[in-house]
Formats: sequence, structure tokens, C-alpha cells
Amino acid sequence: MRYSEMFLPTAREVPSDADVVSHQLMLRAGLIRKLTSGVYSYLPLGYRVIRKFEQIVREEMNRAGAQELFMPTVQPAELWQESGRWTHYGKELLRFRDRHDRECCLGPTHEEVITDLVRNEVKSYRQLPVNLYQIQTKFRDEIRPRFGVMRCREFGMKDAYSFDVDEEGAELSYRKMFEAYNRIFTRCGLKFRPVEADSGSIGGSFSHEFLVTADSGEDAMVYCTKCEYAANLEKAEVSRPEQQPVDEKDFLPLEEVYTPDVRTIEEVCAFLKVTPQDVVKTLIFSADGKAVAILIRGDEEVNEIKVKNYLGCDELELAMDDMIREVTNSPRGFAGAIGIKCRILADFSLMNMKNVVMGANKEDHHVKNVNFGLDFKVSDFVDLRAVKADDVCPRCLSAIQFARGIEVGHVFKLGTKYSKAMEARYLDRNGQEQIIVMGCYGIGIGRTVAACIEQNYDDKGITWPMPLAPYQVILTPVNWKDEALSRTAEELYRKLLDRGVEVLLDDRDERAGVKFMDADLIGIPLRLTIGPKRLAEGKVEIKFRRSGEVHIFTLKEAEDFVVNAVKAEM
Ligand code: ATP
Ligand code: MG
Repeated sequence: MRYSEMFLPTAREVPSDADVVSHQLMLRAGLIRKLTSGVYSYLPLGYRVIRKFEQIVREEMNRAGAQELFMPTVQPAELWQESGRWTHYGKELLRFRDRHDRECCLGPTHEEVITDLVRNEVKSYRQLPVNLYQIQTKFRDEIRPRFGVMRCREFGMKDAYSFDVDEEGAELSYRKMFEAYNRIFTRCGLKFRPVEADSGSIGGSFSHEFLVTADSGEDAMVYCTKCEYAANLEKAEVSRPEQQPVDEKDFLPLEEVYTPDVRTIEEVCAFLKVTPQDVVKTLIFSADGKAVAILIRGDEEVNEIKVKNYLGCDELELAMDDMIREVTNSPRGFAGAIGIKCRILADFSLMNMKNVVMGANKEDHHVKNVNFGLDFKVSDFVDLRAVKADDVCPRCLSAIQFARGIEVGHVFKLGTKYSKAMEARYLDRNGQEQIIVMGCYGIGIGRTVAACIEQNYDDKGITWPMPLAPYQVILTPVNWKDEALSRTAEELYRKLLDRGVEVLLDDRDERAGVKFMDADLIGIPLRLTIGPKRLAEGKVEIKFRRSGEVHIFTLKEAEDFVVNAVKAEM
């Protein structure tokens, strides 16, 4: 491609409305332009990168035995009503009516459409397993689109769906996708980590997110410094502490204390001269409308996702005043476990506590010296809090570490959630009707490209890894008006193109400095500079964008070097 003919608007200034590096660089390097909130166009240079990534995804999906198809963006409401998500999905689902007043939506994902497709065609176990994928545009009306194409409203996604006869088959399909994802992100040269993710009511470790490590990432992860364990912070397990033997002689007599105007943990501690580690917080939640009390140590926070998964409920929220009054007989702020009229769950952090302080279920009162088992019964001690730095690995008890990351992919075992609701069945060997077991697997195309930039840039611009670079080499004759230089550049350009190299020829009538700056900004991995002094000796200069390494070669050597360097890094 000739630079002079390209639609490639670059900019020197940092755009004011872009707050992460990848967004700034994608705008400055002429990769994307915003149309409206969370909706972007990819310009030619950016679209080349997208196509390259899509190609890697395609190759690895095909290698893993998945088949590409293409489904519509517009989806009828009926399918979403069947799955139950028409009401559950919320405002991210963009809904509208057509001229016949039929309700529709723009697909944010395709479980409904694919399940419908498969249930209509698959009748027998002989047609299974099957894994179908597409690379297609999704629309999600995100509440806060940000970071450019990283969290936008209209975006490209690779979504795959596996259909198996049983759990065992589904696990195999899951593992194949897991491996394919590892290969995809490795091929892109990304530093990433698959982490256990929340899989909602399905439970187990049947959901993994692929996080590209970046400080700007929205996700927090925890990983073990010794073993393979890694999890999203919201899912990371706290290991069950050992139960210490109890000696009832240590139990002090229960005591009710008048605590006027004392509500928060800090106020309780100041008033009773204790530390938050001596206090038990009692939080009343409404789980699908039913009250449940969660007990946790005063210095800890409840992880609502863990509570939700343990209870297997759809909706969990802090209880309103009337529910609190109903179960505690007192206003908000004085809840405690003794005499409470609902189920009680206690966090692991409370397992070996004794003589604790908690609310008295009575206005302006707390109780001291409360003891588990003696003064009230807990239905279970459960892992309900977020992991902290001084926790250990739940698998091998070694030290853990925290990091931030960008979720670029997600593999998920769905089980029979959709196939049951939408009646996707098949006949087994014995002619018995069975429900298909499903999995779904997504990769954000634009988000991965943005994440790649977050890991590959310097103060001059992007430093693309070869496999995603829009062009592999840029030829920079320092003065296009100098005929010896431009002729040599044209010849090299032809030769490299003939040898299958993706070349950008900077044939603009610009100063060398401008050309170098643009080449650095758009991040082409190799720059071949043709200048008068060296060319007089029949030589040119090759510079690696990322390392800054420079080599001087004869023309023929340079040509071979470029071909080999590109091959070596693909
Ligand atoms: P997030 O938690 O970031 O909202 P999600 O759990 O909603 O992601 P999935 O439904 O699993 O995401 O979608 C699959 C992939 O699509 C994600 O791993 C991510 O790479 C990409 N993706 C999701 N939402 C967006 C978005 N708003 N903009 C760009 N890419 C997205
Ligand atoms: Mg989301």
C-alpha cells in the first residue's frame, strides 16, 4: 500500500476525551473514529488489525473442530420470551418494534437464536456433538460506554456454541475451546491468564475468563505464586479455616449494653472500646424476596456474588426497612443473630471467634460476649467474603498475588439452561428423548485489539506484535523527490510484495522527521529507511520498532532479512 493513497488520519495531540492509552492511540494512529456514544468506525488501518485477529480466531476455531456460520443481528422477542431473558436481560437489550408492531431486539448474544436453530435440525444423537461459531456484530446498550472500543455498545464478537449429548461430552467441548483460546491469545503475543470466573447457579469451575494483564483493566484477579490457581477476585475462594477446639470455660456471660446513637462499626468500637475484629456485622438481605441474615467479621465485606451462588437465588439485595423490622423487631442498625427470625449464614471469618459484640435486635442496644452455638445456631459457615492480600491459595496454601486485567474472552459451560427452557432435545441410542447439554464461548474482537495496545506501546506510539500489525514493514525513503531514493524504494516495494510481505511504502512528500513520527505512532514492527548517504554505498537501514535495534544491510541482504524477520515473528 502507498501511504500517499491511504485514508490514514494521524494526530499528534492526545485527544482529551480518551482516558486509557489504547483509546488515545487508536484515535491518534487513525485506527478508529467515534460516530456516537459507544459506537465506532474502524478506519482502513484499524480494520486491517481487526481482520488479522479475526483470522487467527478463525484458524484456531476451525482447528478445534468448530464450524463457522453467520446469524442475524435482529432477533424476534418470542425467542427471548421462551428463554425467559426478555424480562431478565434488562436495559442492555436494545428493543424495538417493526412496522407490524412485532417486538424485536438487536442481539447482544446468540444463545436463543442458535438453540432455536439446533433444536429444529438436530433430532438424533448421531448429529451430536456439534460446535458452531460466528464472528458477528453485537449490540449492548451499556450504561457507561468507555475506553473506546474496549467497552462500547456495538462491537464484534466471536461467539461459539457447543451442543453435546451429555455432561462428559460438554466437558470435552469446553476443554477444546479452553485450549483454542490459549492458542489464540498466545499467537497474538499477549500476556494473559485464564482465571476461574463466576458461573452463577451452574457452580463449579465451569467458567473461565481470559484476562489480558493490564493495570488499566476493569477486572481484578487473584493468582497463586506456586500452583496454577487463578481466579477473578469476585469468585476467588477463601479456604476454610481449621475449627479450633472450644472450651466453654472461656465463654463470658452474655451482656446487653445500652448504646445510644451507635450504629456503624466504628461507632460500636469507639463506644465499647473493642476492635472491628471483635465485632460481628449482621446484614439482612432479601434473596428472591426472602430474608436471610449474613454474619461477617466487623472488618470484612460481604461478597454478594458468593452469597447469591450459595443460595442459588436470582435476585439478592440489602433488605428494606420493613423486612428488617419484621425479622429483628427493631429499626435498621441493630440487627444481631440472637432471636432473629430468618435463616443465618456465617462467613468463615467467624469460625473461631468467641465473646463477640453484635446488635441486640433492639433499638439503641448491642450485646457483648455472644458465643456461636451457645447463644444462637448458624445453619452453616460459608465462604462469603472477598479474598484479601494476606489470604493463601485455596488449593495449595501458598501466597497469593493480585493483578488487574482486561477480559478478552469467556468460556462457559451452560449445561441445560437454554436447551431445557427452549426444549432442545434429541433421541439417544435407545430412542429415549434427552436434553442437549450446551456451552458458549465468546471473544471480544475489538476489545482484544485494544488490550493488545495496552500491552504494546511506548511514548512514541503503538508497538504492534508482528501477528496483529496492520503492515509488517514500512519503507521510508527520507526524500521522495530524490529520484535515486524513490526508485530504490519502488524496487524494494515490488520485491517484498512479490515475496508475500505486507509493505507500506511511505511515498509522501514529507520531511523525514514527520515520516518517522508517523511510522512510530502507527507501530509498524520493521522500518526500512532509505537515505542518500547509505544508499551511495548500496546500503539501507532496518530498525525494529519495539527494541530500537538497528541493522545496516545491502539491498539484497535487507530484502532477505525482512522476509525472514517477518516469518520468525508470525
Ligand atoms: P463484561 O463483564 O466486560 O461486561 P461480559 O461478561 O458481559 O463482559 P460476555 O457476555 O462473556 O461478556 O461476552 C464475551 C466477550 O465479549 C467478553 O469477554 C468481551 O471480550 C467482549 N465484550 C463484552 N462486552 C463488551 C463491550 N461492551 N464492548 C466490547 N467488548 C465486549
Ligand atoms: Mg457485560
